[in-house]
Amino acid sequence: MSNSIERFIAGYHRFRSGYYEENRERLNELAREGQSPRIAIVACCDSRVDPAVITDSNPGDMFVIRNVANLVPPYEAAGSWHGTSAALQFAVCGLEVEHLVVMGHAQCGGIRALLEKEESEEHGDHFIASWMSIADEAKQHVLHDDSLHSFDDRLHACELSSIEISLKNLMTFSWIREKVEQGRLELHGWYYDIRTGEVLHFDRDSQSFKPL
Ligand SMILES: [Zn+2]
Repeated sequence: MSNSIERFIAGYHRFRSGYYEENRERLNELAREGQSPRIAIVACCDSRVDPAVITDSNPGDMFVIRNVANLVPPYEAAGSWHGTSAALQFAVCGLEVEHLVVMGHAQCGGIRALLEKEESEEHGDHFIASWMSIADEAKQHVLHDDSLHSFDDRLHACELSSIEISLKNLMTFSWIREKVEQGRLELHGWYYDIRTGEVLHFDRDSQSFKPL
């Protein structure tokens, strides 16, 4: 094992003497008053996709939910361990955020795993395959699209399509749907290209992704 943790401990000490000291007033205010971010974002766990860095945001600005492949499951009463659904409920009902963003990205390992998975593979105790099945519809969609010739084409299309599925799944939660219909919450689909740094957004009118 390398000593890679040392780098992060050194970084923590720089944070205490640098960023924390420079922003002490704002950070203390957040500690006193609590958080009141106006935006929540569902992003991938991928280490290259940091929503705060991409949007140049500060502590307190953004409620961040990260999971494998930035998926939103559909509403489900059954089952117990709904981490993403719990975080969404806190953001929407507790913090009353005004904007909810699902941010996908290029070269997503979760989406790659979904496309490479054989149909015959049982979900069983395979946590990634089971989780990624949320985006099965996106997989079927790209597998039947004859205009997608290479694996990379299908990967890209599946990454985009899974964002649309998550946006649809958000509307299966009654407390999200009601707020959207009342105009108190707006849903957004973003796609971050880690190669170019560009962010696209899902345009509902054209049903396609356009530069943000
Ligand atoms: Zn990813």
